[in-house]
Amino acid sequence: MSTQLPVADATEVRTQAGLIMRRHRPRLTVALTLHALGALAGLAGPWLLGSLVDAVSTGTTRATIDRLAILLALALSAQTLLTWAARRTSFVLAETVFAELREQFLARVLALPLSTVERAGTGDLISRTTGDVDTLARTVRFAVPEVLVASITTVLTLGAALLAGPQVAVAALVGVPALWLGTRWYLHRAPAGYLWERAAYARLNGTVSETVDGARTVEALGLADERVRRSDEDLRDAYAAERRTLFLRTVWFPTMELAYALPVVATLLWGGYLVVRGDASLGQVTAVVLYMVQIVDPVDRLISWLDEIQVGATSLARLVGVGSVPDDRAPSGEMPVDDHISAHDVRYAYRSGRDVLHGVDLDLSPGERLAMVGPSGAGKSTLGRLLAGIHPPRTGRVEVGGVRLVDLPLEALRREVVLVTQEHHVFVGTLRDNLLLAAPGSSDTELRRALSAVDALRWAEALPAGLDTVLGAGGHALSPPQAQQVALARIVLADPHTLVLDEATALLDPRSARHIEQSLAAVLTGRTVVAIAHRLHTAHDADRVAVVEDGRISELGTHDQLVEAQGAYAALWRSWHGQPAEAGTASR
Ligand code: ADP
Repeated sequence: MSTQLPVADATEVRTQAGLIMRRHRPRLTVALTLHALGALAGLAGPWLLGSLVDAVSTGTTRATIDRLAILLALALSAQTLLTWAARRTSFVLAETVFAELREQFLARVLALPLSTVERAGTGDLISRTTGDVDTLARTVRFAVPEVLVASITTVLTLGAALLAGPQVAVAALVGVPALWLGTRWYLHRAPAGYLWERAAYARLNGTVSETVDGARTVEALGLADERVRRSDEDLRDAYAAERRTLFLRTVWFPTMELAYALPVVATLLWGGYLVVRGDASLGQVTAVVLYMVQIVDPVDRLISWLDEIQVGATSLARLVGVGSVPDDRAPSGEMPVDDHISAHDVRYAYRSGRDVLHGVDLDLSPGERLAMVGPSGAGKSTLGRLLAGIHPPRTGRVEVGGVRLVDLPLEALRREVVLVTQEHHVFVGTLRDNLLLAAPGSSDTELRRALSAVDALRWAEALPAGLDTVLGAGGHALSPPQAQQVALARIVLADPHTLVLDEATALLDPRSARHIEQSLAAVLTGRTVVAIAHRLHTAHDADRVAVVEDGRISELGTHDQLVEAQGAYAALWRSWHGQPAEAGTASR
């Protein structure tokens, strides 16, 4: 099992890009047409100048020259207007496409199976949400329009040159080999070079900041020489990487300059020869040479943005890839017949071949309070997540009322069992919105009742706009205990009959713990509770205690039974007995 989220392959990325183009075909057509017309208007200049040269060299009237000058002015104005309209259309289109991509990505992320997110960790997801979305924004907003426009302009300019003077224009081909070979040579080597450079600087930054952060340790242990040596080494590497990329640029840039200058020189020489032989007019040569000067800009832009498109495609692959995670639940339509949760022969592995649960059986009686104790890493949290339906078991069944938890749609599952963690996120929106997430359609009276149940009604009503107070980033800031109470009120609203409670993470802030504990107790009342206990008094007060050791439930019974049985739990109890309960931890 991979812990990284998948990345889409090239075919999938092309399919997605094709779908986007098809969806926006009308506007794309308008944008491309406008760009083509703008480019065409820009091409009138050299043509008219060529005609002017021909007219002057063969003798002409002032009226003809005036006419040509007016046409030139008109063409320039038309080009300006058309380019403006074309850019506007393509920028609006790019923003639309980017917004769509972002929304699709968000939908994909929200549809990810919880188990995948838990396993992959949030780091990968966050780097895709920030880094890759930013890169894609740059590609969609700038690179794609620039490349499209530059391609159109290049092709049309070449066409115009061929039309203006076919024999003259062939000379321009001398620039192609230098352009082709130079760019190929550079693009083959550049990515590795720039990766090296980035990695070298990252390492150097790491070494320097580590040295500064650990300055006292460095001093105390006399590591200064070692740190200096390491910094020197990193610096040498960064220097070498810089030299490498500088070398690549010192070859590539002059090659490009040469490739741009060659066609101009060649058409001028070859054209001159043709004029002398009488095979071409001075005007034709003027036009083609001007086209060759003009084509430099779009070709240059084309080459410099192509790189960016590749980078963007990589990011798109990472964003699209998120959508290819298979769903880990398949709603069967069956509904639980009662509130009875049970696990049969449950095994689970985070990495294939490495089971962390080895055949766990557990029956929860509705309304009972079960405490799970055991050494750290024994599998308590894993079992808790399985009982809450977050991870599907590798083999075996976790059921509620005879239906597998993974066969329930998420909304239905959340009315059966909920995992209570420290994650008391406050979403941007009103307090009402924050509560309605758990039970859409609840009335204000129900919301108030839920707040009151967790002892939060008093401060909630004192908020500037009561339930309508906007919370979250930019809104009214809640204190951590208040945020936790909102999370607990959500549980009251969702009203699951069973809660899985990880004590270590559910009660974070010791200052507010007492207050929150009362709110929590109110939430637990009347529900089946599986508490992953880190304090022994939790186990003592529970109806039953399950000792989890090495992925198995090794002991299961009431506190008194287990103490009497003289097993692992009894030993734990003895070792902490007599000490204040809060001071001891049963599991660590
Ligand atoms: P406990 O809650 O009893 O401390 P856990 O259920 O957290 O134990 O862990 C059980 C085993 O599973 C441990 O060996 C732990 O290293 C492993 N484990 C827990 N979470 C993950 C994860 N996200 N990826 C890989 N291994 C994990």
